[in-house]
Amino acid sequence: MDLTVTFLGTGGSAPSARRSTASVLIARAGVRMLFDCGEGTQRQMQRSLGLVQVDEIYLTHFHTDHVLGIPGLLKTYDLTDREAPLMIYGPPGLEQLFAAFKPFLGRLHFPLEIGILKDDEAVAHDEFEVQAFGVDHRGANANGYALYEDDRPGKFDPEAAKAAGVPEGPAFAALQRGEEVKGSGGTVAPEQVMGPDRAGRTVVLTGDTSPSPATVSAAADAELLIHDASFTREDGARAAETGHSTVEQAAAVAEDAHVRMLALVHISSRYHVGNVLDDARQIFEPTVAPKDFDQITIPFPERGNPELIPNGARENDAGTPSSGGDG
Ligand SMILES: [Zn+2]
Ligand SMILES: [Zn+2]
Repeated sequence: MDLTVTFLGTGGSAPSARRSTASVLIARAGVRMLFDCGEGTQRQMQRSLGLVQVDEIYLTHFHTDHVLGIPGLLKTYDLTDREAPLMIYGPPGLEQLFAAFKPFLGRLHFPLEIGILKDDEAVAHDEFEVQAFGVDHRGANANGYALYEDDRPGKFDPEAAKAAGVPEGPAFAALQRGEEVKGSGGTVAPEQVMGPDRAGRTVVLTGDTSPSPATVSAAADAELLIHDASFTREDGARAAETGHSTVEQAAAVAEDAHVRMLALVHISSRYHVGNVLDDARQIFEPTVAPKDFDQITIPFPERGNPELIPNGARENDAGTPSSGGDG
């Protein structure tokens, strides 16, 4: 069950030649979710995976560097005869944003719906959910998002089933579906032959935010935390004034939340990213600073750690990496 994160835009508030503004694509099995849609997101897709037909867009907040790509992407979907529905989620204020976009969008020929997500509200999917949590971005209505997979059933122990006199075949399958079966000495319950439930994966994205206890809670033991790292420690006052985080603050949040990997984004173009990364790693070692078109693949926890694949989105199609997947 692939879970792949593609960084389409990793830059700070303004795009640079090498970094586009905020846009992250998360693909889980057949579901494609775009988190923020900065200016030029469709061009970033075209330069890598192709024009991805996303199912859902989640907006963290409505500053231009997170939403300006929407009219262009939606118009292109329309011009290329998209028929599949598109759902767009965001914090309160989303209706006003779409009222403002309306003259640009005109009439679209595919179904478009918008949904407000307040703190703690979640969008349910088969086997996972995407939950909004309120972050702290200078008083703006701003959500972070956490993708939480459901727990998975424990590992089936075929030897234990055989020992209980269960014949191999359909009865094994029934046990793994959670059904009782007949063994040689009477009824055999799934609990007797299945290990404890195994945790699903968690990916958390903060959008723009000051360091926040809400992020630490939402990202507890997450496989991946994608965090605002707009400034360095020397510019800490500026970070506080503008509702952003320093690199060191992002690393401290990752440390507190015990995540497996921290990905820094929204780094101001005034800094040298290599230096920024060194600073973060002093506090939290497993930190990366993805560039546009990098991917991170996230295996199930028992199969290893998330892996950064530099330029992964340009070497693979359909958002599925050819290596580092978890089957
Ligand atoms: Zn921003
Ligand atoms: Zn912002």
